[in-house]
Amino acid sequence: MAKEIYDSLCDVCKLFGSNHFASKINISDAYIYGDKAHIDIRDGVAIDRDTLTAAEGKKYNFECVSAGTRFKFRMTFDNLEQDQVEIAKLIVDLLKNGEIKVGGKTSAGLGDIQLAEYSVYRVDKDNLIDYLKQETEEKRREQAFKEEW
Ligand SMILES: [Zn+2]
Repeated sequence: MAKEIYDSLCDVCKLFGSNHFASKINISDAYIYGDKAHIDIRDGVAIDRDTLTAAEGKKYNFECVSAGTRFKFRMTFDNLEQDQVEIAKLIVDLLKNGEIKVGGKTSAGLGDIQLAEYSVYRVDKDNLIDYLKQETEEKRREQAFKEEW
C-alpha cells in the first residue's frame, strides 16, 4: 500500500514530502560557527493595507544576523533513488553558488546564504553496522564513505 502511494506521488513530493510521506531531506538547526554572532538593527515601516503606503507612526526595528556570520548545520538525504541523487547534487550546487535564500525579508535583501565548506558522506548497507558502532557522531562521519560531489 505504501509503495503504491509513493509511486503515485510526483517527483517533488517523493523528495520533499507530502501529506502522505515525510521528506527525504532533513536539515538540522544551524548553530553559529565561531565566537559569536554580530547582530544588525534595521528599521522598517508598516504598510497601510488600504493606501499601500507607509503607515503613519508605524516605524519598527528588527534584528538580523550580520553578513558574513557562519553557521554549521547538517543536511541528510535519506533513501534516495539514483535520479534523486542528481537533484541532491543540484541542491548542494545551488547552496554553494548562493542561489538559495532563507528566512524572512528576502525581498529586502536578507537571507542570502552560501555553502562555504561541506563534506558529503554515504552510509549504506555495507557500512551501516560499522557506522552505528562508532561512539560519536563525529567518528561516524569520519568512517562513513566520503563522496565527491
Ligand atoms: Zn506532488
